[in-house]
Amino acid sequence: MLDFSFNLGLAISSLMICLVNLIYTLIQGRSDKAQNKVFIVMLFILISNSITGIISAVYGFYPDLAGAGDILRIDKYVYFITHTALCPMFFYYISSISFVSTRFSKMRNAVVFIPFFVTELLVITNMFTHWVWNVDRNLVFHREWGEMLIYLAALFYYAASFVVLISSWKVITSKRRLAIIFFFVFVIIGVAIQLVNKDIKSEIISEALGFTGVMMLVENEDDRMAGTSGFYNRAALTMDMNACLVHNRHVDIVVIRVLNHEIISRITGVDEASVLPGILSDYLKPMVKRYNTYVPTNDSIVMAFYHSQHENMDNIVRELYNRMDKPWDYKDNKVYLDTVIMVANIPKSITSVSELFYMIDKPVPANNKKILRGNDLDYVVKRQAIESALSRGFAEGSYEVYYQPTYHIDKKLHGAEALIRMHDKEMGNLYPDEFIPVAEQNGLIDDIDDFVLEEVCKFIKSGVPKQHGIDNINVNLSVLQVMRPKFIDHINEIVDKYDIDKKFINFEITESIAATDYDMLSNIIILLKKEGFLFSMDDYGTGYSNVSAVFSLNLDVIKIDKSLLWGAEKSESGMIILENTIRMIRQMNKKILVEGVETAAQIKLLEKLGVDYLQGYFFSKPIPKDDFVALISRQKKVDLNSLR
Ligand code: C2E
Ligand code: CA
Ligand code: CA
Repeated sequence: MLDFSFNLGLAISSLMICLVNLIYTLIQGRSDKAQNKVFIVMLFILISNSITGIISAVYGFYPDLAGAGDILRIDKYVYFITHTALCPMFFYYISSISFVSTRFSKMRNAVVFIPFFVTELLVITNMFTHWVWNVDRNLVFHREWGEMLIYLAALFYYAASFVVLISSWKVITSKRRLAIIFFFVFVIIGVAIQLVNKDIKSEIISEALGFTGVMMLVENEDDRMAGTSGFYNRAALTMDMNACLVHNRHVDIVVIRVLNHEIISRITGVDEASVLPGILSDYLKPMVKRYNTYVPTNDSIVMAFYHSQHENMDNIVRELYNRMDKPWDYKDNKVYLDTVIMVANIPKSITSVSELFYMIDKPVPANNKKILRGNDLDYVVKRQAIESALSRGFAEGSYEVYYQPTYHIDKKLHGAEALIRMHDKEMGNLYPDEFIPVAEQNGLIDDIDDFVLEEVCKFIKSGVPKQHGIDNINVNLSVLQVMRPKFIDHINEIVDKYDIDKKFINFEITESIAATDYDMLSNIIILLKKEGFLFSMDDYGTGYSNVSAVFSLNLDVIKIDKSLLWGAEKSESGMIILENTIRMIRQMNKKILVEGVETAAQIKLLEKLGVDYLQGYFFSKPIPKDDFVALISRQKKVDLNSLR
């Protein structure tokens, strides 16, 4: 037989554990969300249960103490009334962390809580019925059938919590899931022991221990916080919006995009990640709860409104819009924010988290609108359609490589550029400018680039290009591909399959790749050139790259962007830029290709300036491979006059 001090020890331990949990929760200031409040209430229930446990241990052992009978009776009431509420509370807790709770209709809420009402009623009326427990003359406590009903109700709520947990599996982080599962394990063990032997009061301590894990891993939100702003971060936004989508919960989203945040960070000397929350948090707090506000990027703040009506949103947007026109006092500076406000609804206008992030991350459309809502956000929806088209693209064979010929300045055929095209059965023909940025975001760009390289290898392997005097075929590389680990091995692996001469392939890189990491890029180029590949700098003259760094790269050809050529025809300054760009590249001893050649006059100009190669609609648009082969068979040397 166990000594009474054993149960007294358990009860005191539970009390200590719960008090510590409560203190840390309050120190951390985690008390404003519904979830936090429920957690605190559960702690109070357990604290009260621990105290009743202490009392019943002491008075149960010393039944002769004054008033022992009454105290024990009251003690039991307090215990049952509070403890019966714990499981429904826990169910509500799990529902709120997984965003399920708000999906419940009033009706459903009522039904879900029927077992709770019934068991509480049983407990309250026990003094007349003694259906739940009975305390006999010797102050010995007897369980009655009603207690089994309470256990069943508890089982019901734990099972329901478990179902909610499973249905929300994807929207709860793995460590939170683990904490909750351990909670279940602790409680099951504690309850099982007490059921088997009612003299071991193990249930409360097992719950207290389980809640400790929940406090450390679920209530603790360090992984969701954006710095010290009190707002949530990108990961939290992803999780929460995913949860809303999974449970079909409606939420109005307002995104504030600040276009000049870099300058503001420089003016104020506050780092880019903290400057916007710093300026805006006091203003936003009365408008939206801190835990419905997210800072997913340095230049944006996202607010989620869960119970808003249409007029309500209009007011909020108008208020924001008016305020954004005025300056902000921040760190002894007056700063102006150049903002665009985007208003969307999940799941009405935004149907996936990737759409939301497209809205947040991508450049805002250049239409000078300060508020984007409704149809203004069609570009996001189109993006979604493109994403679906991309993902079915390989299965349906939508991709095709087109070739656009390039010529020597004397109009003799030089080579070709491989350019991807997409023929989607729903969206029709798509151009790379539309789908490449999306593919870069969802990772499919790797497969597309590999596809193009393979197609080009096959083409070279066929021997046709060589027969027609083609020197090389240009293949575009995207930034992401080049920065991928083992990029060189990957390229070699593909090309080696076809056993072709590598000097037939000329990779085009852009300044945007170069700008990310010159040292790494330089190494990659050196290594691949050793293999035999050639390299071109694409779109030269469009970025603000470090000119000396670009020329330190061991490139074979510089491709001058079409905008420079077209600009030269439009203005005198454009002409000066083109002339001097070409002169400089020539002095650097690099070959020059000019793209976008559409007229004979342009060819004349370029001849005079001394470029090496030409590419453009004057000769041919990019065309399918068979058409390209037909074209180069027809004209090994293009006669300028015959084309006019
Ligand atoms: P880019 O590499 O600068 O390709 C040249 C673009 O200019 C092509 O557009 C071509 O059709 C167009 N162009 C050529 N000559 C003329 C001309 O005389 N007049 C006019 N108006 N346009 C001309 P396209 O094919 O739409 O490709 C757009 C961009 O998409 C490419 O720009 C390139 O950055 C990207 N891209 C295309 N194919 C691939 C690919 O296979 N992989 C990767 N990573 N990117 C690709
Ligand atoms: Ca190119
Ligand atoms: Ca180009």
